[in-house]
Amino acid sequence: MGSLKPTGEGSSVLGVCRAHEPAPCRLYWTRWVHRPIFNIPVDRQTKREDAGFTPAAVDSLLETLSRNRAKATFFCLGAVAEWYPDVMRTIVSQGHELAVHGYTHTPIHRHTRDSFANEIKKTLDILTAFTPRPIGFRASNCTHAPFLFEVLEENVFEYDSSVFPIRTPFYDWSMYPDSTPFWATPKILEIPLSK
Ligand SMILES: [Zn+2]
Repeated sequence: MGSLKPTGEGSSVLGVCRAHEPAPCRLYWTRWVHRPIFNIPVDRQTKREDAGFTPAAVDSLLETLSRNRAKATFFCLGAVAEWYPDVMRTIVSQGHELAVHGYTHTPIHRHTRDSFANEIKKTLDILTAFTPRPIGFRASNCTHAPFLFEVLEENVFEYDSSVFPIRTPFYDWSMYPDSTPFWATPKILEIPLSK
C-alpha cells in the first residue's frame, strides 16, 4: 500500500478512525469518518448529530482507495451501520472489509464486561446483514480494558487492532515498542496501528 501513505507510514490494517487528535495527524492516513460523534456523550451520538458527515467522508475515502486500487478495513460502529445501511453495502460491494468498532463510540474502560460484550454482539448482528461475520475489532479511542481479549475470543474474533504503541491523553500503549503484530492470546492476533 505504498501509494496510500502520503502523510506517513500508514497502517497495517487501514482503519477509518482518525479520532485521536491531539496525536499528530501524520500517524494516520485515513479520514476521521465519525468525527461528529467522537468524544461526546452516548445520548448525543445520533444520526442528527452526524448530519451526513459519515456518508460524505466514506465516499471520499472510497474514491481515494479506488483510485489507488487498494482495499481497506473499515472499523464500523453498529449505530452508524444502522443509520447508513447503504454506506455499508457500498463499502462491501467495493471489496473492503467490515470490522467492529463497538456499537457506540464508548472507550472500553468505561464499559463493564457485560456492557462491552453486549455492544460487540449487537454490532456483529448488525454488520452480518452486510458481510460475512466480521473477524476484526478496534476499540474506541484505542482504549483497553482487562476483559477485551476474553470477550473477543468468546465472540470468535481473529484479530484486534486497538494497540497504538504510543501514549496520549486517551490511552497509553507505550509498553509496546513498535507496530509489529503479535499474538495477544493464542487465538487473537494483535495488529497494532502504525506509529
Ligand atoms: Zn473511533
